[in-house]
Amino acid sequence: MERTLVLIKPDAIQRGLIGNITSRFERKGLKLIGMKMMELKEAVILEHYAHLKDKPFFAGVKKFMQSTPVIAQCWEGVEAVEAVRLIVGPTKARAADAGSIRGDLAMSFQCNVVHASDSLETAQREVKRFFEEGEIFNYDKTEYTHVYSEDEK
Ligand code: ADP
Repeated sequence: MERTLVLIKPDAIQRGLIGNITSRFERKGLKLIGMKMMELKEAVILEHYAHLKDKPFFAGVKKFMQSTPVIAQCWEGVEAVEAVRLIVGPTKARAADAGSIRGDLAMSFQCNVVHASDSLETAQREVKRFFEEGEIFNYDKTEYTHVYSEDEK
């Protein structure tokens, strides 16, 4: 099973979309194994968005991501990284497919309601960045009997 990181961003917090977003991952069959509200410190943003630090929009993204706390979630499932990215949709929300989170709930490049890890390697780093070991939980999800076949689990 893979683990991946989702951040519910400040626009979603302001617009009351936490439940809507979370229920989409739940309905898909993913397993929530960690969740917390947190303020993003400067150092975490610089590390998390290091690939954007020279972009003209970086200052705006930083201000946006610090405008309210965010909700960090860790989701688990078979090929969960790709599954979550598909549910989230592409960065430019107004071009995202209907049915995806960004396609259904957002119009903006910057204010695109969620972050999701973009590869398995990134996911492993990002889960560690946002969660201590004791904040990730292992438990049996009885629903798995119906979500996966025996050989997929
Ligand atoms: P993603 O979040 O889809 O993985 P990136 O890692 O490229 O995309 O960008 C991180 C975040 O920075 C985006 O989710 C978005 O909030 C913001 N961003 C990216 N590109 C732009 C842009 N051209 N203009 C404004 N904000 C942007």
